[in-house]
Amino acid sequence: MSTSAGIVGAGIMGRMLALALRREGWEVTLFDRDTEEGANSCTWTGAGMIAPYCELEAAEQFITALGVRSMDLWPDWMQHFANPVYYKDGGSLVVAHPHDRIELERLRRRVTDNAPRPDIMREVNEAQIRELEPELGERFSSGLYFPFEQHMDNRGLMHAMGATLQRDGVQWLTGMEIRAVEAGRVKGPESWSFDWVFDCRGIGAKQDLPTLRGVRGELLYLYAPEVNLSRPVRIMHPRQSIYIVPRPDHVYVVGATAIESEDVRAITVRSSLELLSAAYTVHTGFAEARLIETSVSARPALPDNLPRFFVKEGLVRINGLYRHGFLIAPALTEIMLAYLDSGTIPDVAKGIFEQETAETA
Ligand SMILES: Cc1cc2nc3c(=O)[nH]c(=O)nc-3n(C[C@H](O)[C@H](O)[C@H](O)COP(=O)(O)OP(=O)(O)OC[C@H]3O[C@@H](n4cnc5c(N)ncnc54)[C@H](O)[C@@H]3O)c2cc1C
Repeated sequence: MSTSAGIVGAGIMGRMLALALRREGWEVTLFDRDTEEGANSCTWTGAGMIAPYCELEAAEQFITALGVRSMDLWPDWMQHFANPVYYKDGGSLVVAHPHDRIELERLRRRVTDNAPRPDIMREVNEAQIRELEPELGERFSSGLYFPFEQHMDNRGLMHAMGATLQRDGVQWLTGMEIRAVEAGRVKGPESWSFDWVFDCRGIGAKQDLPTLRGVRGELLYLYAPEVNLSRPVRIMHPRQSIYIVPRPDHVYVVGATAIESEDVRAITVRSSLELLSAAYTVHTGFAEARLIETSVSARPALPDNLPRFFVKEGLVRINGLYRHGFLIAPALTEIMLAYLDSGTIPDVAKGIFEQETAETA
């Protein structure tokens, strides 16, 4: 008889785990209070960059290692999805205006000191920037190029994962507010029993994970027919680096703020001004762009900003994906499957497994 799983939360973590377990022959039921689109999830807001090396600016090497593994795993996932997803592997470019060049140097040093391999970053001059992004060459005379990084359309991903869940026979209960996620049991308007329950509720799991906090992130969607960029461009700045991430048909995502707050109300004027002026200083073509949408969410973060598996027999809570959901979800899924298969924690992940205790629960 196949093993049964109840997964609560259909953001990137819940959807990917549901697909992976289904592939292994499990009977999977996925619960979410949202619709299939998932517009209230953090995943719906996320910019969709897979940038393990750029993230070294602030993240630990462990995140880089998970990200590098995920970069290897994403192509297989893309093959598996029922629909194609806008997904590119043309690298990322980091630039700085002359007065912020020290920030670029700081990033260069930090990556050099922590990089797993020397070829993951190259210094580029004006001509090389022009080769990569012809419309930026005259504005920036130096930058850093990370050739192996990837990016994707987060919303296209959610849609493709949704279609694949349906195709593969995952039972998906939308509009289902869950009030208790326990070992072997999920409780909402009724109660369901499973061999294993997985809590993938992101910030919605706060009642069971008291140290979980939200980090507010705001971003903008611009339609800019005069702008042609083919890869994510980050602009170094002393307060926060800002990025511009391409989507199909001249749409660009400009983000993102990082504010210690769980407030997910509309974007503020200050944040909009900062993001818009950063975009304009990169490319004047953004002056005529249309602001087509703003999006705000709270990144689910644990005190050390690393992900965790809180486990006990019949229950795993997977949380703390923070600003790295797209970067690390495939690697986390692979680790979880290895754990369920063997009953032992893979060496690489020993530091992020915790037995669920009274304090975490
Ligand atoms: C502005 C911004 C930019 C980002 N950019 C990137 C990026 O470029 N690259 C990257 O790797 N990461 C990025 N991230 C981070 C990434 O989006 C998150 O790490 C990821 O989406 C977290 O996924 P999750 O599945 O854990 O949570 P979520 O996506 O929030 O999913 C949780 C789900 O649980 C459901 N839920 C919660 N409570 C209940 C309940 N009681 N009953 C039923 N359902 C419930 C919710 O409806 C939701 O669908 C960004 C985040 C933000 C905010």
